[in-house]
Amino acid sequence: MNLFIDMETLTSVSSGFYSILLVLLFLFWQQNKDIDAIIWWCGFPLFRLINAYISSDTTNYGTDGFIYFGNISILLSNSFLMIGCMKFTQLKISWKTIYLYFGIFLIVCIYQHMIGAGLPERTRSMVIFNIIPIVASIYALSKLDTAAYAIEKFFTVFWIAFQLGVFAFWILINFDFGDPNYGPITVLSLIFAYLSHIFICVGLIILAIAERRNQLVIESVKHKFLEGQLTAVLTKAQNANDEKIKFLTNMSHELRTPLNAILGFSESLKLKYYGEINKKQAEYVDNIYGGGELLLKLITDLLHLSNIDEGTVEIELEDVNFSILIDKTLPLLHEIVGHDNDRFMINNHIGDERKSSSVYIDQIRAKQILINFVSNAVKYSDAGSEIAMDIDDLDDNFFRISVVDRGMGIKQEQYENIFKPFNRAGNDNSKVEGIGVGLSIAKDLIEKMGGKIGFNSKVGTGSTFWIHVPKSKQRQLPIG
Ligand code: ADP
Repeated sequence: MNLFIDMETLTSVSSGFYSILLVLLFLFWQQNKDIDAIIWWCGFPLFRLINAYISSDTTNYGTDGFIYFGNISILLSNSFLMIGCMKFTQLKISWKTIYLYFGIFLIVCIYQHMIGAGLPERTRSMVIFNIIPIVASIYALSKLDTAAYAIEKFFTVFWIAFQLGVFAFWILINFDFGDPNYGPITVLSLIFAYLSHIFICVGLIILAIAERRNQLVIESVKHKFLEGQLTAVLTKAQNANDEKIKFLTNMSHELRTPLNAILGFSESLKLKYYGEINKKQAEYVDNIYGGGELLLKLITDLLHLSNIDEGTVEIELEDVNFSILIDKTLPLLHEIVGHDNDRFMINNHIGDERKSSSVYIDQIRAKQILINFVSNAVKYSDAGSEIAMDIDDLDDNFFRISVVDRGMGIKQEQYENIFKPFNRAGNDNSKVEGIGVGLSIAKDLIEKMGGKIGFNSKVGTGSTFWIHVPKSKQRQLPIG
């Protein structure tokens, strides 16, 4: 049987496979560039392809010279295989040794070309020089953790080692490919050699996939571990928060009882239930009462905040006539502004036809928000400066109530802090009393009622705080 007749079919079929596997390997590398062994492995099918092209050209194969490029390609393909395997298993690569080795092979090729060595001699040197990268590849892959790469490792190592088997046969027949005694076996050995290269490529692809799979497994284990840790930390934080809320609630209740006694007794002294008191005493009683009131407000705010955290703030929504709500709230607001009521302007822009419209809110909470707005307007403005309350019919869904002052205003960098609890937006050291919770409570309340809150402000010009109060579905309610 003529060995070279079947070469073209064999090499062209193999070339098809090499090309497909090369593209697959390259594409996989594109998606997984962190596994740098893959790009080296691409060299294996690439140089096999070049060798197949050279070998398929029977004319060149028959002539001396061009065939050496085929032999060089084979060594290159096995060297790229070896470098890839070493990179894959993180073995140290001695580049100097590789260059030296390759240099020696080139010299041998040139020498053989000069002395006109025949096919058996050329093949012999090719085989000898390829044994080392093949054995090194097997050695590198043998280092892989069998538990993690079991099938992929043995499959690839088997086909790489298979090349050695083919080499052994060629050594056995003393590279005499024309020996009629071994004709069919020689052809078979070549077919198996090409087959082993194709399966090596397949092995490299499944190894790369296994690497990615193992990385994912490790990541998911890490992820689960972190998730567990996070849950533990969250539970701890939740418990600490629960404790804090419990503490705040208990403390607020405990403090309110004696405080109410202080307020009650000082008020009865103020109202002179138990007889006359002198001017100095009256002044001190006023101070005690004022201080007590402030403390009560702080404690009430604290209790409210802890209720917000707990989610136990109760809102009682009902349909309320909007005009009546405003009328009932105004006396409270006037009281906050104080004696100088001329500074407090009410601008009600709601047309007569809408005056009896109803809103769907919790009356007490709505009053609480407006009280907070007005008392802030008083606190953060100069005494006597104008404060206005504008009431507008915003749209089909909301009325808008704004409290406008001509006070100190708010710096832009503090805007984000305005509604944060216990944040005084830069006023921590000011003489103005407060603990920075009023607006955060107001925001929580109005949002629970389905409304909105916001503000505009300019330093030195003043601030406008507004709420959008939701209109009720049942649009009109009888007045009274
Ligand atoms: P408190 O007044 O007790 O500090 P608030 O929650 O009511 O707490 O307000 C938070 C912060 O917003 C205030 O500390 C203040 O810096 C700022 N602020 C609120 N209203 C006004 C206003 N009308 N003018 C200027 N700054 C204001």
